[in-house]
Amino acid sequence: MFKSLVIPVYDVGDKMSDVRNVIIIGSGPAGYTAGLYAARAMLEPLMFAGYMSGGQLMLTSDIENFPGYPQGIGGPEMMMQLREQSERFGLEVQDRNVESVDLSQRPYKVSLEGEEYLTHSIIISTGAESIWLNAEGEAEQKGRGISTCATCDGAFFRDEEVLVIGGGDSACEEATFLTRFASKVTLVHRRDVFKASTIMYDRAANNEKIEIKTFRQIKKWLSDDNGLTGAVLEDPRDGSTEEISATGAFIAIGHKPITSFLGGQIETDEEGYIVHKKYTMTSVEGVFAAGDVVDTRYKQAITAAGMGCQAAMDAEKWLEEHVH
Ligand SMILES: Cc1cc2nc3c(=O)[nH]c(=O)nc-3n(C[C@H](O)[C@H](O)[C@H](O)COP(=O)(O)OP(=O)(O)OC[C@H]3O[C@@H](n4cnc5c(N)ncnc54)[C@H](O)[C@@H]3O)c2cc1C
Repeated sequence: MFKSLVIPVYDVGDKMSDVRNVIIIGSGPAGYTAGLYAARAMLEPLMFAGYMSGGQLMLTSDIENFPGYPQGIGGPEMMMQLREQSERFGLEVQDRNVESVDLSQRPYKVSLEGEEYLTHSIIISTGAESIWLNAEGEAEQKGRGISTCATCDGAFFRDEEVLVIGGGDSACEEATFLTRFASKVTLVHRRDVFKASTIMYDRAANNEKIEIKTFRQIKKWLSDDNGLTGAVLEDPRDGSTEEISATGAFIAIGHKPITSFLGGQIETDEEGYIVHKKYTMTSVEGVFAAGDVVDTRYKQAITAAGMGCQAAMDAEKWLEEHVH
């Protein structure tokens, strides 16, 4: 059975009235949904939106799989609407980055730019960053042909040729998924040994629309005025190169959850994802986490939003039982 860490509670004297019920760190779909629920529960939540206010969806032009938008919606537009909706119920948003937290005593401390905020509970929704190759020409083609999310962007490449880069489960799964749309998928891996499970690898290897190229890495992306046209592939063993044409490319070499500001005070798995102990509560009582920062599997706006709702409801219940 999960037993949370017992965190000593300190009397902060006349500062007690400044202690927030809940601080939400991160302003993606998880954060805003948590903010909406916490605000409607009259918790007067404070959000630090971070260096990328609105989160990952600010980088994408079309979202076709978030329920409620039959014609699809632009990422920035959807995030503006989510922000407006939560602010309408009283979420206070500050577009600032949290530098560190102190979870050694309650109320907890959240620090930024020389200021310290006290709070009874925290919801962490800082998301995860896709790992990019950073090959020549990549920055210009992000969102114009190069993506890190096949579920999100695969349907834009109907009857086109695409590349998938990587050798793990995600790369094999994304390659197989993309055969629903693309006329051909080339799976590019820099070694000949795949980290993917046998079943995932076999599924890709046995798919007649997928060609697997081992001992190849991206040396350079090729493009014209309309977007991506292909890549120069290099054999890492001898440096020889070849050109391949493709209008889409999906980099599937992993994600990095954003947790460094936590200074190791919360339990994570070996890849750095925050671990849920009971419902959305982390290894530290009163500290909850939601969205891609805990999600090793789905990484979608709707799943992040759903978890944000859960985290706010869990925080509300915890505050009721432990603070008020
Ligand atoms: C190009 C692209 C296209 C996508 N398209 C789709 C799609 O069509 N449909 C779909 O369902 N999903 C899509 N996704 C996935 C989706 O964006 C994510 O699953 C979702 O945004 C995760 O939400 P989140 O709230 O967990 O975190 P994020 O959206 O990653 O937000 C994290 C937030 O944390 C903040 N933050 C980080 N560090 C700090 C800090 N120290 N202090 C304060 N704040 C901090 C950031 O500023 C950011 O606001 C796409 C992703 C990408 C990259």
